[in-house]
Amino acid sequence: MIVIRGATTIPCDTKEEIRKAVSELLEQIESRNSLKRDEVVSLVFSSTSDIHSYYPAKAAREAGFLSCSLFSAQEPDIDGGLPLCIRCMLFVEKNLTPSHVYLRGAKLLRKDLSGKFNIAIDGPAGSGKSTVAKRLAKDYNILYLDTGAMYRACALEVLEKGVDPNDEAAIVDLMRDVKLDVVYENGVQKTMLDGRDVSEEIRKNPVSMASSTVSKHASVRMHLVEKQREIAGRMSCVLDGRDIGTFVLPDADFKFFLTASPDVRARRRYDELKAKGAEVDFGKLREEILCRDEQDMNRAIAPLKQAEDAVLIDTSDMTVDEVVETIKRSMQEKI
Ligand code: C5P
Repeated sequence: MIVIRGATTIPCDTKEEIRKAVSELLEQIESRNSLKRDEVVSLVFSSTSDIHSYYPAKAAREAGFLSCSLFSAQEPDIDGGLPLCIRCMLFVEKNLTPSHVYLRGAKLLRKDLSGKFNIAIDGPAGSGKSTVAKRLAKDYNILYLDTGAMYRACALEVLEKGVDPNDEAAIVDLMRDVKLDVVYENGVQKTMLDGRDVSEEIRKNPVSMASSTVSKHASVRMHLVEKQREIAGRMSCVLDGRDIGTFVLPDADFKFFLTASPDVRARRRYDELKAKGAEVDFGKLREEILCRDEQDMNRAIAPLKQAEDAVLIDTSDMTVDEVVETIKRSMQEKI
């Protein structure tokens, strides 16, 4: 007895979508494994708990699987799981090397079968990019590349060496002598300057404004963008920044632009800094964030901008879970 696995997703929970998805999945499994219907002994389905409209097993019966035993079950509601997903297992009386089939959004479950993909998330400070990017990276088991951390590390070096953040030539000289790296430990990005872990220091408030200033310079950007493209070219990852969808990876598979009202964004940063024990003035922080956005949106090279093909999400009144869910659904619909 051989077992063949399959999975697919539906864009919304309707009887029609379930029937369509099940029959497409079974057709693909049959054709990729050169199966005949009577070679299928048993067919077991499970579906995520957000699917209520129809039994996948019934849809399979209607798709012509008349002689095998059929069964449907509901999966537990697992945090971070792929929504609206139908999985199946075919028990087959035939000697073959099974070709498992993952369609639509379920391709994301089996990256070994579906190949590399990149998710670009851009937006202004405090729009929720990094929180959401980290969640997606964890759920899809892919890398999270925080490109802002690279500009921040460059800014930290500039501040520590007493260089003027507006002096492009001096920064280029400085960066030539320092090794800026991102490394991963247990899936967490660490930002390194000459082997020193600066991941915490670069989050301090004075570094934020300086990072926006150093990131205006074309030569600084090209130096860092080259590193970002090299990493994204090698593996599946989710990248967050200001110019990922427009400049770093204009061909990214999935693009999102997050935004939120200035008050909400300032509040998020305020809470974040407070939690780290920093002394912050809300009004001043709000001012700084707006000033940074202004500078990021108006620089000559790769400014902060929504890519034409990016999905816009206003996160002002959304929880992290809701944003993650919206992104996942949008990715499923696109596949
Ligand atoms: O996202 P984060 O606040 O860490 O970014 C710090 C600064 O780095 C931004 O204000 C922006 O000026 C710059 N940046 C950029 N391009 C990116 C990421 C960040 O110019 N892709």
